This record gives sequence, C-alpha cells and structure tokens, in this order.
Amino acid sequence: MNQTRQQLVRTLREVDNKSYPAYKQLKGSYDMTDFTLIIEHVQGDPFASPSMLRVEVPTAKAAFPKELYDTDEKKTALEDRLLRLFSREIKKYSFQAKGSGKSGFMGAVIPGPEILKRTGCEISGNGTVLVRFEVGFPANGRRIQSRELEKMLIQFLPEVVLHTLYYDKTKEQQFRQVAELAEDQEFIRRELKKRKLVAFVANGAILPRESGISSRPMKNAVAFESPKSLEITLQLPNKGEVRGMGIPRGITMIVGGGFHGKSTLLKALEVGVYNHIAGDGREYVITDDTAVKLRAEDGRSIQKVDISMFINNLPNGKDTSCFSTADASGSTSQAANVVEAMEAGSSLFLVDEDTSATNFMIRDELMQKVVHRDMEPITPFSLRVRQLYETAHISTILVAGSSGSYFYQADLIIQMKEYCPEDITEMAKKAAMEFATPGQEEKAPKLSLPDFSRPRIWLRKPDVRDRVKMKVMGRDSISINKETIDLRYVEQLVDTGQLAGLANIVWYIRTHFLSENMSMTEAVNQTEELLKTFGFEKVCVGKVPGNLTIPRRQEIFACLNRWR
Ligand code: ADP
Ligand code: MG
Repeated sequence: MNQTRQQLVRTLREVDNKSYPAYKQLKGSYDMTDFTLIIEHVQGDPFASPSMLRVEVPTAKAAFPKELYDTDEKKTALEDRLLRLFSREIKKYSFQAKGSGKSGFMGAVIPGPEILKRTGCEISGNGTVLVRFEVGFPANGRRIQSRELEKMLIQFLPEVVLHTLYYDKTKEQQFRQVAELAEDQEFIRRELKKRKLVAFVANGAILPRESGISSRPMKNAVAFESPKSLEITLQLPNKGEVRGMGIPRGITMIVGGGFHGKSTLLKALEVGVYNHIAGDGREYVITDDTAVKLRAEDGRSIQKVDISMFINNLPNGKDTSCFSTADASGSTSQAANVVEAMEAGSSLFLVDEDTSATNFMIRDELMQKVVHRDMEPITPFSLRVRQLYETAHISTILVAGSSGSYFYQADLIIQMKEYCPEDITEMAKKAAMEFATPGQEEKAPKLSLPDFSRPRIWLRKPDVRDRVKMKVMGRDSISINKETIDLRYVEQLVDTGQLAGLANIVWYIRTHFLSENMSMTEAVNQTEELLKTFGFEKVCVGKVPGNLTIPRRQEIFACLNRWR
C-alpha cells in the first residue's frame, strides 16, 4: 500500500537529528499525487553509495501518445530521450541540499551517444513511465538532516518530474523527431538484409570524433561521401531520400595510406551495430547488428575452444580442437576470438590490421617458399576468409594498410584518400593478377567448421552462500567476488552500463545453468529470453539499479569466454 505524501513528511521530521540508520524507515512507496515515489534502498551512511529511488508516472499523467512507443525501437528511443531529459534536469538540483559526504547528491545515468535499452528509464506496455535515480540522504556526520531531504523529495523532485516526464503539446515536435529517427534507423537495418548488404554509411555522415576520449563529432571534419559505384538510395519513411555507401556481403578490404581515415571508418562501422542520437554524425551509419570486431588479445585466457581451423599440429602435440590456455599468444587469441564470434552468431567480422597478429593474418610468398607448410601450424585468416563466407555466410570487412595478400580474396576494395573512399576494386585486382606468379599461391586446406559442443564445467561452481560482490571498473573490466573479467579488448562495449549489465547476466548464467548439461548457446538464449520479457527483473542480483544496460548477445558470449 502506498503511503501519502503527508506520511512521508511526517516520517522525515520524526527522524531529523537521529542517527543515520533511522533513515531506513523511509523505505516504501509514496503517493505524491501526480506520481509514485519508491524509496527502494537506503544507504548505510552519508559516504556510502547513494540511496536507490524510482518514480513511476501513471499513463494518464505522463500521457505520451501511443504512436511514440508502439514499436520496440521507438519505445527504446523514447525511454532513452526521457532518461537524458531527466538526468540533465535533476543534475541542476544536485548538492543544493547540504551535508557530509554524498549528502545532497541527486542524479540519474547520463547516456552516451548510443541509444540503448537501459534500466534508467522504462515505459511499460500501458504507458507508465518509470525512472530510476540516486539520492544522497543528507546528514551532518552521521546525524540525519531530514529537512534537507524534505527539500529534495518534496520540492525539487516534483519539479524535475513535471518538467521532464509529462507530455504536452509544446513537446510534440521534439518527441516526434525521436520516434521518426528510430523508425528510419530500423528501416535501414531491415533494408540491409533485403538488399544483402552488411553496412550503410550515409553521405554527409561525420565519422571522426573530437578526440580519443570524446564521443562528440569532430568539428570541421570531412563529411562522408560514397564512391559512385557503391552509392545506393534509400527512401526512409520519415526523412525521405538518403544516399550513401552500401557495403555488400562478401569480403571487403579498406586500404589507403596512413592517417587517411581507414580506422575511423572501421570504428564507425563497429559502433554502427547501435543506433545513435540526432546530432551525433553517425545517425545513418548502420551495420549488421551481429558484427564483431576481431583483434589480437595477448594474455587472454581461452577455455576449451576448437581453434583447429586456424591452428593445428603444434610441435608439442597439444590438441587444438579443444584448446585451453591461461595466457594466449597474439595468433591463438585472435583465432579464439574468431571461433567464439561464430558461436555467438556473428555474420560480419570487422578486422583492423593494426590490432591483429601478423602471423594470424597472412603468410607472405617468400615465407611460404622458405618454411614448408608442414612446419607451420597456422593457417592464416587470409586462407580462411573466403571459405568462411562461402560455407558459414560470414562476411568480413578488413582494414589493411601494409599487406596486399587480401587483394586476391576481396570482392570489394575501397581506398581511403584524404578521408574520402574510392572504389579501386578493378585496378587493385588487375595489379594483383599481374603481380602473382601463376599457380604459386598457397591453397587453403579443407575447412571443417568448429565444434561448439564443448563441455561447460570449466565454469567453477560459485559459492552461493556468500553474497555476491560485483564491481565495474569503467569500460575496462568487471569483477565478481574478486575474480576479474578483462573486457578492455571487447571493443564494441561502449557504455559502463553494459558492463554492469554483463556482471549480472554472467553471474545469473553461472548460478543457474552451470550444473545442467547445457551448451553456452542454450544458456545465453534462455537468459536473453528472460531479459526480453522482464528486463533485468529476474536476471539481476537484488533490486534493479538504474545503471544497467542490456548488452548484445555477442558481448555476453565474449564476457563468459573471458571468465577465467
Ligand atoms: P588510418 O587508420 O588510415 O591511419 P585514422 O582513421 O586513424 O587513419 O585517421 C587519422 C586521423 O585523421 C585521426 O586523427 C582522425 O581523427 C582524423 N580523421 C579521420 N577521418 C576524418 C575526417 N573525415 N575528417 C577529418 N579528420 C579525420
Ligand atoms: Mg589505422
């Protein structure tokens, strides 16, 4: 049962000047007339993580027109926008109330440029708007200052809710634009499939960022302009005609001199698996959403992965069809990354020569002549890339600045010249033919696809008696009960919320599916089903906090695979 706002005020005044734990009495739901306030978790002292709260605005009050959230993508986009508005507004009130430590803090998650499913804001099927946020309950030392909290909850909060979570006519255009962009982005994703493309980059897109640590678009950047031969025209439902470069399925090479923008294009394709907000510059850069960036990752652990399609006949006789190591080399790590991405259902690989292991990528002609094939355990990616496309239907986009080996394999060769792409396929192919000594190129050995039925007992059974302790170290890693999972090189993770989400998800998988005789794919499928239906409600440890993001399936696999 909800308590009234008067009861909230009364309890607040009762606990004034008492010792901090008296704040715990505030836990509960309050009817604030136009919305419900739920105090979900009360912090232990003013220096601990702030208290967890949420507001729920009933449909009648929020009053967002149904057509703003009647599809999945529109709903996610509206939730994303409301969270941005709410967090920007509540920030203005942060620390206006005073006290020790985090006293007076008010904040919600501030999203980056990607539009992702977050627990910070959720709209239910019937249109109730829920927002999760944090409040530092004020105290002087450990003595409660509840007059300050009264200001925050009774005065500030309703202002924030009023300004951000209620729809009215004056906001019509703003919200319509959000829904229209979401619809257009989804349209492009569908169109990619229909037209057998793996990516689309609109003319006019701004790909580079302001700096290595900023996600804002670079000012005065050279706007993207498709080569004529690759240009397609899309008729978007809202924006209308948009032209840009369509990259077909198959093997695409991006070449060009250093600093001409190759990696910048690839990076944009990597994050094109997500939708971006208006003004980002990459709104209409859309990539096959199963795409995985593959790189070398020296030192990672590998557990029972069949990497035999790339590495075989090791001198020590070690079996590579069920390969494990605590400290992988460049080539074995990249081989495992490829095989695990296949298991995770990727149909597009993105590779940058700069971050790859050379001996995994190529073996040049001279080396082939000197070191006989029988003496080389590695079958380089260059010999497998065509087979992967033809037998497993996985396309590859590869940046190569220094090696021409892939010219023979590529269906499409794009050269970046001063940030502008040119289609040089014909010319490059001709040069490659003239260069090759006929009959001399190495033939690819027969491909047998990897076996994904590995037993999963490598996941040691966790000690469930202990409370689980999860920590997120920025964009780099998570730790679960002091075991660290290094995610630095899982490059398509863009948001700390995804890491927080992953911590909960892999813990759930480990505690629920471990003992069952279940493949990793099946475990991930079942967990994704729960996430789809209930959000984090079932999967999360304890109360759902406001800082979780649902990661892609590919990153769930990547995280499980890196758990030592
Ligand atoms: P490459 O991989 O070809 O060596 P990069 O993609 O790393 O080149 O780009 C080199 C530099 O040029 C980077 O600092 C990047 O920010 C900048 N840059 C990339 N694309 C553009 C562009 N379209 N307009 C302006 N600067 C760009
Ligand atoms: Mg580069």
